Amino acid sequence: MTRLKMLMPRLSPIKPKLKALPKRAERFYQSPEWRGLVKQLKAERGAFCERCGAGGRIIGDHIVERKDGGAELDPSNIRLMCWPCHNAKTARERARRAVSKP
Ligand SMILES: [Zn+2]
Repeated sequence: MTRLKMLMPRLSPIKPKLKALPKRAERFYQSPEWRGLVKQLKAERGAFCERCGAGGRIIGDHIVERKDGGAELDPSNIRLMCWPCHNAKTARERARRAVSKP
């Protein structure tokens, strides 16, 4: 008793290697508009953290975050910050967000 099996070549699904896609937010922070504005603010205000006064690597931070409707390119919504302060703020914001969720 012979049973004929059609052996279909199994199509192995080609899984594209998932590259970490840059999030929208990150793309914004690489935009020439944003970079230019931060550069300008550093020139105007000095390249120091506006929170603790540290120098070094200073980045622009949105006081009212973009996801909260804060203006993206309004200098009055941007504060220069060092990384430690920025990370602390981000962690605090995240905690706040987690708490305020219903
Ligand atoms: Zn700082």
